[in-house]
Amino acid sequence: MQVLKFGGTSVGKPERMKAVAEIITRNDEPKIVVLSALSGTTNALVSIGQALASDKKEEATRQIAELKAHYEVFIKALLATDEKRSEAFEIIKEHFEFFSITLKISFNEALNRDILAQGELMSTKLFTLYLQEAGINAALLPALDFMRTNEEGEPNLERISADLTKKLKDFKGASLLITQGFICKNYRGEIDNLQRGGSDYTASLIGAAINASEIQIWTDIDGMHNNDPRVVDKTFPIAELSFDEAAELAYFGAKILHPASIWPAQKYSIPVKLLNTMQPDAKGTVISKSTNSDDVKALAAKDGITAIKVKSSRMLLAYGFLRKIFEIFEKYKTPIDMITTSEVAVSVTIDEDEHLEKIIAELSQLGQVEVDNGQTIICVVGNFVAERKGIVNKIFDALEEVPIRMISYGGSRHNISLLTDRVNKENSLKKLNEHLFGL
Ligand code: ADP
Ligand code: ASP
Ligand code: MG
Repeated sequence: MQVLKFGGTSVGKPERMKAVAEIITRNDEPKIVVLSALSGTTNALVSIGQALASDKKEEATRQIAELKAHYEVFIKALLATDEKRSEAFEIIKEHFEFFSITLKISFNEALNRDILAQGELMSTKLFTLYLQEAGINAALLPALDFMRTNEEGEPNLERISADLTKKLKDFKGASLLITQGFICKNYRGEIDNLQRGGSDYTASLIGAAINASEIQIWTDIDGMHNNDPRVVDKTFPIAELSFDEAAELAYFGAKILHPASIWPAQKYSIPVKLLNTMQPDAKGTVISKSTNSDDVKALAAKDGITAIKVKSSRMLLAYGFLRKIFEIFEKYKTPIDMITTSEVAVSVTIDEDEHLEKIIAELSQLGQVEVDNGQTIICVVGNFVAERKGIVNKIFDALEEVPIRMISYGGSRHNISLLTDRVNKENSLKKLNEHLFGL
């Protein structure tokens, strides 16, 4: 089986949804098709949740009405027959009845997650109706029946695999199954999600759970580009990436992939293709076990980074000092991205600052602590063999004028990371594009 995931822009307009139907019926290979919400919907749902959380009922009512009007127009353009249109209106009515209820009951985080789940629930139902109207044999596979996270909020792959395999037996003979990306149930059995952009993660988890032959991520661009196309004008698609390279890029800000979406595919060596719904025949990017090049492949940047420096002339070289520092981050479940050390200080970066104050308070018992917010990690990804000289030189030449706060090199052969203030991001990506790719 193949797993094909279509993102928000790929299903965001009726004509795009129809193009998706064409793509998934180009061959007879059995498929699980994962859909995101229509583009804009999840943002609208986040905003409705925020209005409800701050008790702005009128604002929430207005936004809900706006969203409903959007779906009504969408349905009329998507479906042609009165029968399917009225089925679709009935479905939408049920979801918007739920939104009306949210206006009347007290708000809490579980309700908010339920609100966020409505986008994928609606997009998959509407798409399935369209397929039925077009005479295409397809069935809806509810993600909430098998996609599950554990107490840590992490997907439980073994359980997902067991539940999904069991579930698929109910669909014997169906070669097109449509399911929701992003949404899941948590260990308490409540509706939850895999974080923004999580439909990629859903696709990869399903791929791993059923040992799919291939995972295809269909989006609005022809693959992973060598630099962030939102920031830099001249970029090009990369034909091949290794799992490690793709994981680094996703983790360090390449929005085309959810940060965690590579490991499930990598675990079972399932190739991942990044493809463009607007140009279905473009080659895109193939992510697989290994690639043959040993060069710089791509750049990415991750914002919202906090750098923390602990200075302690007394203790740094003492046995166990680093452990004490790491234990504090572990205690507050805060992952560290970059780390550099000198004889008198350790610098680390984090991107989750929920527990920052408590972390600083505890670190202060070990030494003097300095904190810089608003930093960006610029990540250069490729396959860097130590013998290949010159890459670091080129990076330094490119960033001659940019103040660099930290550098991490040698941790893996796939990544050189640099930390700078957010204000330097655009310039750094452009300059690196010139020096590393001649663009
Ligand atoms: P979808 O809705 O299909 O999930 P996303 O918006 O999440 O799509 O991801 C695709 C977008 O990722 C592209 O339109 C592009 O702007 C952005 N992007 C950021 N970095 C890269 C990169 N290195 N290569 C390709 N796209 C990138
Ligand atoms: N709809 C969700 C989001 O916008 C998940 C996704 O599109 O991947 O974040
Ligand atoms: Mg996405």
